[in-house]
Amino acid sequence: MSRSAPLVFDGHNDTLLDLLNARSGNRSFLEASARGHLDLPRALAAGFGGGFFAMFTPNEDELDLRETDDGYEVPHPPTVRTDYAAEVSEELLALLSSLEADADGAIRVVRTAAELRDCFREGTLVALPHLEGAEAVRPDLSNLTELYDAGIRSIGLVWSRENAFGYGVPFRYPSSPDVGPGLTDAGRALVGACNDLGIVVDCAHLNERGFWDVAEISTDPLVVTHTAAHALCPSSRNLTDEQLDAVAESGGVVGITFGVSDLRPDGEFDDDVPLSTLVDHVEYVADRLGVDHVAFGSDFDGTTIPDTLGDVRGVPDLFEELRTRGFDDDELARIAHGNWFRVLDETLAV
Ligand SMILES: [Zn+2]
Repeated sequence: MSRSAPLVFDGHNDTLLDLLNARSGNRSFLEASARGHLDLPRALAAGFGGGFFAMFTPNEDELDLRETDDGYEVPHPPTVRTDYAAEVSEELLALLSSLEADADGAIRVVRTAAELRDCFREGTLVALPHLEGAEAVRPDLSNLTELYDAGIRSIGLVWSRENAFGYGVPFRYPSSPDVGPGLTDAGRALVGACNDLGIVVDCAHLNERGFWDVAEISTDPLVVTHTAAHALCPSSRNLTDEQLDAVAESGGVVGITFGVSDLRPDGEFDDDVPLSTLVDHVEYVADRLGVDHVAFGSDFDGTTIPDTLGDVRGVPDLFEELRTRGFDDDELARIAHGNWFRVLDETLAV
């Protein structure tokens, strides 16, 4: 690192699924590898202190990406069965536990905000278990406490598909996020139950009507773990100015994705992206909402990221770019981890 950069606590990665995936070959999270975006040695070298680790149940078929005249759209894949999602989530959570067990104290799966802060300060890589899409939760919520007891501390109501709780926004560019209906009754009940238990409700991938339902129901700060500014890249996954404002009013936080198709003004899946494009989104949200409401949500190992970052080792360069925009040390520390910690302090405690 050329200058001391603050440790990063990150809003989203899909590394667990990538580790299970055949295409990752035999890469181990505990050994430095050229594959994937994130592993323990690369994280430590880059000042990446941990974050939300997603349990995502993949679709059984490939996504059907269709080019349109001025962009693309991806029709919703079939819904995912609860039992299947519960099985995959359990497998991914077990993988995370095995990493913790094998890492000799270097990785900690955390359950409280205090534990998270302590481990982070000591330089232990922290992992906050996150369900990306609530399909593993039974629609009557009868296994939610079980999932909480197993360690789940954050739930994204939907991925970009429909489920019993809500309507994930289909991947589409250009597009408003206002596609499809709001939360179902089960979705509304799930938000309340998460508030009661101390589980983060993540609005990433949620359509706009669902977002406003969460804003109305939730008693916790609004959280969108990996997204970007619709004003700069009009993809369906990004937040409009009104949505951004609502996050700030609730005291919440937006994690800026590193996914190129939600960063590039042209929405293309092309990784030839300067760091300044990513920093434009951070700066836009910080200018509009104040620096207390913006953080990172890398989506490492879940998407195509700028080739200028490469993998987690590019994070120090990102801080250099942020410094050129005038962010000082205190502001960078809030963006890097302080804002997530503030929201998690408030949300995980009940
Ligand atoms: Zn995602």
